[in-house]
Amino acid sequence: MAYVISAPAIPSLPVVGSADRFPVRRVYCVGRNYEAHAKEMGFTGREPPFFFLKPADAVVPVEAGTVGQIDYPSQTKDFHHEIELVVAIGKGGKNISAADAAKHIYGYAVGLDMTRRDLQGDMKKQGRPWCIGKAFDQSAPIGPITPITASGEITKGALSLTVNDKPRQSSDVSMLIWNVNEVIEHLSAAWELAPGDLIMTGTPEGVAAVVSGDRMSGRIEGLGTLDVVVR
Ligand code: MN
Repeated sequence: MAYVISAPAIPSLPVVGSADRFPVRRVYCVGRNYEAHAKEMGFTGREPPFFFLKPADAVVPVEAGTVGQIDYPSQTKDFHHEIELVVAIGKGGKNISAADAAKHIYGYAVGLDMTRRDLQGDMKKQGRPWCIGKAFDQSAPIGPITPITASGEITKGALSLTVNDKPRQSSDVSMLIWNVNEVIEHLSAAWELAPGDLIMTGTPEGVAAVVSGDRMSGRIEGLGTLDVVVR
């Protein structure tokens, strides 16, 4: 079998302790999953988790020990960082219970859900899809995946982001409104998960803008640091 045009490459992430890579199928994202961030976005209270997606090729893999680079995107004047714990799915399934969810996790990474906040805000106001604000090219720089066999299940741990060495976001994974296992339960009730899926689990408070030349440094306890420069 041949394709009539050249087939697109499969996006992939490096894996800590392996020369082999993790192929990316889909990127699911959770909205408003830390209370203080929900409040800063003008919302209060615990609501059921909701989801949006980024295309797999929006992932910018950042190799271990290197500084990733992303371009300042078009059409925005308010380009925001969102530091997030990323969960990599190793075993698929639907209607996965929270109690079984950890068996479906391959590993974890540090990621950035980059956002054209002004465009997202316009779409919200008009009741239109968020794609232009969230699912644009290079909108998901992500570092190496640490296998769960090495890290153990991650239910807590500091997560933080600095920009040019100044603190911007600082919280703890234990502050998630819906924890990782609950997110997998809700997500797998709506979509059948498959190996290669990534879940960006939501960002804490402190989201703000970056400009060309800024260097973001995200850190999650146990998963190392993700450094990304905006060109
Ligand atoms: Mn986010």
